[in-house]
Amino acid sequence: MTILVTGGAGFIGGNFVLDWLAGSDEPVVNLDKLSYAGNLQTLASLHGDDRHRFVHGDIGDSDLLDRLLAEHQPRAVIHFAAESHVDRSLHGPGDFIDTNIVGTFKLLEAVRGYWSGLPASDKAAFRLLHVSTDEVYGTLAADDAPFTEAHRYQPNSPYSASKAAADHLVRAWHHSYGLPVLTTHCSNNYGPYHFPEKLIPLVILNALAGKPLPVYGDGQQVRDWLYVTDHCAALRRVLDAGTPGETYNVGGGNEKTNLDVVRTICRLLDELRPRADGKGYAEQISHVQDRPGHDRRYAIDARKLARELGWQPAETFDSGIRKTVRWYLDNQDWAAGVSSGRYRDWLTQQYGDQ
Ligand code: NAD
Repeated sequence: MTILVTGGAGFIGGNFVLDWLAGSDEPVVNLDKLSYAGNLQTLASLHGDDRHRFVHGDIGDSDLLDRLLAEHQPRAVIHFAAESHVDRSLHGPGDFIDTNIVGTFKLLEAVRGYWSGLPASDKAAFRLLHVSTDEVYGTLAADDAPFTEAHRYQPNSPYSASKAAADHLVRAWHHSYGLPVLTTHCSNNYGPYHFPEKLIPLVILNALAGKPLPVYGDGQQVRDWLYVTDHCAALRRVLDAGTPGETYNVGGGNEKTNLDVVRTICRLLDELRPRADGKGYAEQISHVQDRPGHDRRYAIDARKLARELGWQPAETFDSGIRKTVRWYLDNQDWAAGVSSGRYRDWLTQQYGDQ
């Protein structure tokens, strides 16, 4: 059997592909258009591995999708491909509409065509797993209960609105056509191979480079941090045992303010890679103007996933952030490849012109 992954050269998709092939010989077809966020350097250890077939292409290309589905006959599709950065969505929402909404629609239609032609037993076993975000639920006040799967949709940014639209399409393809879909809503992920425009890698790399550590506004925005391999384990569990048509929230149970996260990273770096001048990294913290409409708090209630499918995160925030900081210290080549733009050459280096 085979699985088809979209967006498997990104942060979570890349970790998922590595994690999948570390625990299984079931091949992965990995369709990714390599936007600025796609990085084949993440998958360098799979070069020459027959179990991984990388395909450079767009989920908006229906002919390509039809060809890949017919050729590889996957038993499941795991859909990560998206424009994912809130700040970018504020400056240029068009790409978010194209990929997150129209691209998801194209994928749903191609998968529906493929799935409806499968023999009955394969048809019943097939799954489309759509990876979504807690940001579709909007923002929480300090004393609100965390988001459950029943929380109403109230997206506040072009990014979260585009993901919410995709969620509704996925839901409708189940109710209207019977497509066996599963949707997950996860909180903020962190861990290895995270593109350094996001808070945690940005702070680690800026600290090491002696640059300011930007904190939006008062830094009191709360996020619920999920270590990326815990997320991968949750996705495998949902794929194996989730009920089609259901949604599952995935959270790490680690609510932290952004300022706490930045201070924790500074303390870890003080311990693991002290500054040459003997001062603490916290000196580099710099408060910058808050982003417009910045959601104040996200928090996930992941009890359904624990209760029904037996998933629990393995990492606490303390253990996960320590692993993450160590990973960036040990993999400065990967980070330097991203900062210099060299990662863009990996496609031609490894796969020739595509
Ligand atoms: P990412 O931006 O790191 O990676 C996205 C990947 O999708 C990239 O490799 C990119 O090249 C690819 N891609 C973009 N447009 C494409 C297209 N049209 N066709 C094919 N490939 C395309 O994102 P991520 O952080 O890995 O997030 C993965 C998924 O998880 C997204 O759907 C995102 O909305 C969701 N999510 C992420 C987080 C998080 O904390 N990172 C939290 C909640 C949900």
